[in-house]
Amino acid sequence: MKIINSILHMQALAISPERGERRISFVPTMGYLHDGHASLLREARKLADVLVLSIFVNPMQFGANEDLDKYPRDMERDFKIAEECGVDIVFIPNATEMYPNGFQTVVSVRDISMPLCGANRPGHFDGVATVVTKLFNIVRPDIALFGNKDFQQLAVIRRMTADLNLPIEIVGMPIVRERDGLAMSSRNAYLTQSERESALCLYRSILSARALFDSGERSAAVLKRTVCGIIQNEPSATIDYVEFRDAETLNDVEVIDNSTLLALAVRIGQTRLIDNMVFGEKPGF
Ligand code: AMP
Repeated sequence: MKIINSILHMQALAISPERGERRISFVPTMGYLHDGHASLLREARKLADVLVLSIFVNPMQFGANEDLDKYPRDMERDFKIAEECGVDIVFIPNATEMYPNGFQTVVSVRDISMPLCGANRPGHFDGVATVVTKLFNIVRPDIALFGNKDFQQLAVIRRMTADLNLPIEIVGMPIVRERDGLAMSSRNAYLTQSERESALCLYRSILSARALFDSGERSAAVLKRTVCGIIQNEPSATIDYVEFRDAETLNDVEVIDNSTLLALAVRIGQTRLIDNMVFGEKPGF
Protein backbone atom coordinates (compact mmCIF):
# COMPACT_ATOMS: atom_id res chain seq x y z
CA MET A 1 0.00 0.00 0.00
CA LYS A 2 1.41 3.38 -1.08
CA ILE A 3 0.87 6.53 0.94
CA ILE A 4 0.90 9.71 -1.10
CA ASN A 5 0.72 13.26 0.22
CA SER A 6 1.63 15.28 -2.85
CA ILE A 7 -1.13 16.31 -5.26
CA LEU A 8 1.27 16.29 -8.20
CA HIS A 9 2.55 12.82 -7.34
CA MET A 10 -1.01 11.41 -7.08
CA GLN A 11 -2.08 13.07 -10.33
CA ALA A 12 1.09 11.98 -12.13
CA LEU A 13 0.36 8.34 -11.21
CA ALA A 14 -3.26 8.67 -12.32
CA ILE A 15 -2.38 10.08 -15.74
CA SER A 16 0.88 8.19 -16.34
CA PRO A 17 1.17 5.92 -19.38
CA GLU A 18 1.78 3.01 -16.96
CA ARG A 19 -1.82 3.30 -15.84
CA GLY A 20 -2.72 1.95 -19.27
CA GLU A 21 -6.17 0.38 -19.28
CA ARG A 22 -6.24 -0.05 -15.51
CA ARG A 23 -9.43 1.20 -13.91
CA ILE A 24 -9.30 3.23 -10.70
CA SER A 25 -12.00 3.05 -8.02
CA PHE A 26 -12.06 5.82 -5.44
CA VAL A 27 -13.44 6.25 -1.91
CA PRO A 28 -13.09 9.79 -0.52
CA THR A 29 -13.28 10.05 3.29
CA MET A 30 -12.36 12.26 6.22
CA GLY A 31 -10.67 9.34 7.96
CA TYR A 32 -11.23 7.78 11.40
CA LEU A 33 -12.45 4.78 9.45
CA HIS A 34 -15.20 2.42 10.59
CA ASP A 35 -17.15 -0.45 9.04
CA GLY A 36 -19.23 1.98 6.96
CA HIS A 37 -16.07 3.16 5.19
CA ALA A 38 -14.83 -0.45 5.01
CA SER A 39 -18.00 -1.55 3.19
CA LEU A 40 -17.33 1.10 0.52
CA LEU A 41 -13.69 0.04 0.24
CA ARG A 42 -14.51 -3.68 -0.07
CA GLU A 43 -17.01 -3.01 -2.82
CA ALA A 44 -14.62 -0.60 -4.55
CA ARG A 45 -11.92 -3.29 -4.42
CA LYS A 46 -14.13 -5.55 -6.55
CA LEU A 47 -15.00 -2.88 -9.11
CA ALA A 48 -11.59 -1.82 -10.44
CA ASP A 49 -7.89 -2.67 -10.72
CA VAL A 50 -6.51 0.08 -8.51
CA LEU A 51 -8.25 1.21 -5.30
CA VAL A 52 -7.54 4.72 -4.03
CA LEU A 53 -8.71 5.93 -0.59
CA SER A 54 -8.40 9.60 0.28
CA ILE A 55 -8.30 10.94 3.81
CA PHE A 56 -8.83 14.67 4.03
CA VAL A 57 -10.67 16.63 6.69
CA ASN A 58 -11.82 19.33 4.33
CA PRO A 59 -11.85 22.75 6.03
CA MET A 60 -14.06 24.19 3.28
CA GLN A 61 -17.06 22.07 4.30
CA PHE A 62 -16.97 23.04 8.00
CA GLY A 63 -18.76 26.12 9.32
CA ALA A 64 -17.04 28.59 11.66
CA ASN A 65 -18.50 27.04 14.82
CA GLU A 66 -18.24 23.41 13.77
CA ASP A 67 -15.90 20.61 14.79
CA LEU A 68 -13.03 20.99 12.27
CA ASP A 69 -10.35 21.25 14.98
CA LYS A 70 -11.57 18.37 17.09
CA TYR A 71 -12.59 16.01 14.26
CA PRO A 72 -11.30 12.57 15.39
CA ARG A 73 -8.11 11.26 13.77
CA ASP A 74 -6.18 7.99 14.00
CA MET A 75 -3.92 7.44 10.99
CA GLU A 76 -2.32 4.22 12.23
CA ARG A 77 -5.70 2.57 12.67
CA ASP A 78 -6.88 3.94 9.32
CA PHE A 79 -3.84 2.43 7.57
CA LYS A 80 -4.56 -0.94 9.15
CA ILE A 81 -8.19 -0.93 8.00
CA ALA A 82 -7.19 0.32 4.55
CA GLU A 83 -4.65 -2.49 4.23
CA GLU A 84 -7.25 -5.08 5.29
CA CYS A 85 -9.65 -3.76 2.65
CA GLY A 86 -7.08 -4.07 -0.13
CA VAL A 87 -6.42 -0.35 -0.70
CA ASP A 88 -3.54 0.29 -3.13
CA ILE A 89 -3.04 4.00 -2.55
CA VAL A 90 -3.95 6.20 0.41
CA PHE A 91 -3.97 9.82 -0.71
CA ILE A 92 -3.61 12.28 2.19
CA PRO A 93 -3.24 15.80 0.85
CA ASN A 94 -2.63 18.71 3.18
CA ALA A 95 -4.94 21.68 3.44
CA THR A 96 -2.37 24.28 2.34
CA GLU A 97 -1.66 22.41 -0.86
CA MET A 98 -5.38 21.87 -1.51
CA TYR A 99 -6.24 25.52 -0.77
CA PRO A 100 -3.14 27.62 -1.46
CA ASN A 101 -3.11 31.40 -1.11
CA GLY A 102 -5.20 32.90 -3.87
CA PHE A 103 -7.63 29.97 -4.12
CA GLN A 104 -11.04 31.34 -5.10
CA THR A 105 -13.07 28.82 -7.10
CA VAL A 106 -16.28 27.31 -5.75
CA VAL A 107 -18.36 24.51 -7.25
CA SER A 108 -21.96 25.11 -6.24
CA VAL A 109 -24.82 22.73 -6.99
CA ARG A 110 -27.78 25.04 -6.64
CA ASP A 111 -31.21 23.69 -5.65
CA ILE A 112 -30.36 20.29 -4.27
CA SER A 113 -27.85 21.85 -1.84
CA MET A 114 -30.44 24.20 -0.31
CA PRO A 115 -32.77 22.13 1.96
CA LEU A 116 -32.00 19.75 4.85
CA CYS A 117 -28.30 19.94 5.86
CA GLY A 118 -27.77 22.79 3.37
CA ALA A 119 -30.21 24.97 5.32
CA ASN A 120 -28.61 24.05 8.65
CA ARG A 121 -25.02 24.26 7.47
CA PRO A 122 -24.74 27.16 4.99
CA GLY A 123 -21.89 26.64 2.50
CA HIS A 124 -21.39 23.02 3.52
CA PHE A 125 -22.28 21.49 0.15
CA ASP A 126 -20.25 24.09 -1.76
CA GLY A 127 -17.29 22.82 0.27
CA VAL A 128 -18.18 19.21 -0.50
CA ALA A 129 -18.76 19.78 -4.24
CA THR A 130 -15.54 21.79 -4.56
CA VAL A 131 -13.32 19.27 -2.77
CA VAL A 132 -14.85 16.28 -4.57
CA THR A 133 -14.28 18.01 -7.93
CA LYS A 134 -10.65 18.64 -6.96
CA LEU A 135 -10.18 15.06 -5.76
CA PHE A 136 -11.76 13.71 -8.96
CA ASN A 137 -9.32 15.80 -11.01
CA ILE A 138 -6.36 14.60 -8.98
CA VAL A 139 -7.24 10.89 -8.65
CA ARG A 140 -8.94 10.54 -12.08
CA PRO A 141 -11.15 7.62 -11.00
CA ASP A 142 -13.41 5.63 -13.30
CA ILE A 143 -15.77 4.93 -10.43
CA ALA A 144 -16.34 6.57 -7.03
CA LEU A 145 -18.31 5.19 -4.08
CA PHE A 146 -20.29 7.14 -1.49
CA GLY A 147 -22.56 6.10 1.38
CA ASN A 148 -26.33 6.63 1.54
CA LYS A 149 -25.73 7.68 5.14
CA ASP A 150 -24.95 11.15 3.72
CA PHE A 151 -27.91 10.97 1.37
CA GLN A 152 -27.97 14.63 0.33
CA GLN A 153 -24.20 14.64 -0.23
CA LEU A 154 -24.62 11.71 -2.62
CA ALA A 155 -27.47 13.51 -4.41
CA VAL A 156 -25.31 16.64 -4.77
CA ILE A 157 -22.40 14.61 -6.15
CA ARG A 158 -24.60 12.71 -8.61
CA ARG A 159 -26.08 16.01 -9.87
CA MET A 160 -22.66 17.66 -10.14
CA THR A 161 -21.14 14.69 -11.97
CA ALA A 162 -23.99 14.68 -14.48
CA ASP A 163 -24.11 18.48 -14.89
CA LEU A 164 -20.36 18.80 -15.46
CA ASN A 165 -20.15 15.68 -17.70
CA LEU A 166 -17.54 14.10 -15.47
CA PRO A 167 -16.71 10.66 -16.90
CA ILE A 168 -17.05 8.96 -13.52
CA GLU A 169 -19.58 6.36 -12.39
CA ILE A 170 -21.06 7.24 -8.99
CA VAL A 171 -22.09 4.30 -6.80
CA GLY A 172 -24.25 4.71 -3.68
CA MET A 173 -23.85 2.18 -0.86
CA PRO A 174 -26.26 1.14 1.93
CA ILE A 175 -25.98 2.57 5.46
CA VAL A 176 -23.93 0.37 7.77
CA ARG A 177 -25.26 0.32 11.34
CA GLU A 178 -24.05 -0.81 14.73
CA ARG A 179 -25.77 -3.93 16.06
CA ASP A 180 -28.29 -1.80 17.94
CA GLY A 181 -29.15 0.27 14.85
CA LEU A 182 -27.08 3.43 15.34
CA ALA A 183 -25.71 4.48 11.93
CA MET A 184 -21.93 4.28 12.01
CA SER A 185 -20.23 7.66 11.98
CA SER A 186 -16.81 9.00 12.95
CA ARG A 187 -18.71 11.54 15.06
CA ASN A 188 -20.17 8.77 17.26
CA ALA A 189 -16.79 8.92 19.03
CA TYR A 190 -17.91 12.23 20.60
CA LEU A 191 -20.84 10.58 22.44
CA THR A 192 -20.69 9.84 26.16
CA GLN A 193 -22.08 6.49 27.25
CA SER A 194 -25.48 7.95 28.13
CA GLU A 195 -25.58 9.99 24.92
CA ARG A 196 -24.76 6.83 23.00
CA GLU A 197 -27.97 5.31 24.47
CA SER A 198 -30.00 8.42 23.65
CA ALA A 199 -28.69 8.39 20.07
CA LEU A 200 -30.70 5.23 19.45
CA CYS A 201 -33.80 7.44 19.21
CA LEU A 202 -32.86 8.33 15.63
CA TYR A 203 -33.15 4.82 14.25
CA ARG A 204 -36.00 3.94 16.62
CA SER A 205 -38.02 6.86 15.27
CA ILE A 206 -37.25 5.88 11.67
CA LEU A 207 -38.42 2.31 12.34
CA SER A 208 -41.65 3.56 13.90
CA ALA A 209 -42.35 5.67 10.84
CA ARG A 210 -41.51 2.70 8.68
CA ALA A 211 -43.99 0.50 10.60
CA LEU A 212 -46.74 3.09 10.10
CA PHE A 213 -45.88 3.29 6.40
CA ASP A 214 -45.97 -0.50 6.13
CA SER A 215 -49.41 -0.52 7.74
CA GLY A 216 -50.67 1.83 4.99
CA GLU A 217 -50.22 5.36 6.39
CA ARG A 218 -49.12 7.75 3.62
CA SER A 219 -49.37 11.20 5.23
CA ALA A 220 -45.96 12.81 5.71
CA ALA A 221 -47.40 15.01 8.49
CA VAL A 222 -48.62 11.98 10.47
CA LEU A 223 -45.32 10.14 10.14
CA LYS A 224 -43.36 13.27 10.99
CA ARG A 225 -45.36 13.71 14.21
CA THR A 226 -44.45 10.14 15.21
CA VAL A 227 -40.75 10.64 14.49
CA CYS A 228 -40.60 14.00 16.31
CA GLY A 229 -42.53 12.60 19.29
CA ILE A 230 -40.02 9.79 19.80
CA ILE A 231 -37.02 12.10 19.52
CA GLN A 232 -38.51 14.79 21.75
CA ASN A 233 -38.97 12.15 24.45
CA GLU A 234 -35.19 11.93 24.73
CA PRO A 235 -34.02 14.73 27.05
CA SER A 236 -30.56 15.15 25.47
CA ALA A 237 -31.91 15.25 21.89
CA THR A 238 -32.66 18.42 19.91
CA ILE A 239 -34.13 18.20 16.42
CA ASP A 240 -32.36 20.12 13.62
CA TYR A 241 -34.81 18.77 11.07
CA VAL A 242 -37.14 15.84 10.35
CA GLU A 243 -38.30 15.90 6.74
CA PHE A 244 -39.92 13.84 4.04
CA ARG A 245 -38.56 14.59 0.57
CA ASP A 246 -38.63 13.14 -2.91
CA ALA A 247 -35.52 10.94 -2.94
CA GLU A 248 -34.42 12.14 -6.38
CA THR A 249 -35.18 15.89 -6.38
CA LEU A 250 -35.24 16.44 -2.58
CA ASN A 251 -38.45 18.44 -3.10
CA ASP A 252 -40.89 18.52 -0.19
CA VAL A 253 -43.64 15.86 -0.23
CA GLU A 254 -46.94 15.69 1.64
CA VAL A 255 -47.97 12.22 0.51
CA ILE A 256 -45.44 9.44 0.70
CA ASP A 257 -45.27 7.43 -2.49
CA ASN A 258 -42.48 5.68 -4.37
CA SER A 259 -39.01 6.75 -3.33
CA THR A 260 -39.66 9.13 -0.47
CA LEU A 261 -36.73 10.01 1.74
CA LEU A 262 -37.14 10.43 5.48
CA ALA A 263 -34.10 12.44 6.58
CA LEU A 264 -33.21 13.55 10.08
CA ALA A 265 -30.56 15.60 11.77
CA VAL A 266 -30.58 15.55 15.55
CA ARG A 267 -28.22 16.95 18.14
CA ILE A 268 -27.43 14.59 20.99
CA GLY A 269 -25.82 16.90 23.52
CA GLN A 270 -23.25 18.77 21.39
CA THR A 271 -23.01 16.09 18.69
CA ARG A 272 -24.98 16.46 15.48
CA LEU A 273 -26.04 13.11 13.99
CA ILE A 274 -27.85 12.38 10.73
CA ASP A 275 -29.77 9.33 9.57
CA ASN A 276 -32.26 8.47 6.86
CA MET A 277 -34.33 5.82 5.13
CA VAL A 278 -35.97 5.70 1.72
CA PHE A 279 -39.60 4.50 1.80
CA GLY A 280 -41.33 2.81 -1.13
CA GLU A 281 -38.00 2.36 -2.85
CA LYS A 282 -38.23 1.90 -6.61
CA PRO A 283 -36.34 -1.18 -7.69
CA GLY A 284 -32.90 -0.16 -8.89
CA PHE A 285 -32.96 3.33 -7.34
P1 AMP B 1 -16.85 10.65 5.94
O1 AMP B 1 -15.51 10.13 6.32
O2 AMP B 1 -17.80 10.78 7.08
O3 AMP B 1 -16.76 11.89 5.07
O4 AMP B 1 -17.50 9.54 5.00
C1 AMP B 1 -16.84 9.07 3.86
C2 AMP B 1 -17.79 8.22 3.06
O5 AMP B 1 -18.23 7.12 3.84
C3 AMP B 1 -19.05 8.98 2.61
O6 AMP B 1 -19.40 8.57 1.30
C4 AMP B 1 -20.06 8.51 3.61
O7 AMP B 1 -21.40 8.57 3.15
C5 AMP B 1 -19.64 7.08 3.85
N1 AMP B 1 -20.15 6.60 5.13
C6 AMP B 1 -19.98 7.17 6.35
N2 AMP B 1 -20.66 6.48 7.29
C7 AMP B 1 -21.27 5.45 6.66
C8 AMP B 1 -22.13 4.39 7.07
N3 AMP B 1 -22.50 4.24 8.34
N4 AMP B 1 -22.58 3.52 6.14
C9 AMP B 1 -22.22 3.67 4.84
N5 AMP B 1 -21.42 4.65 4.38
C10 AMP B 1 -20.95 5.52 5.27
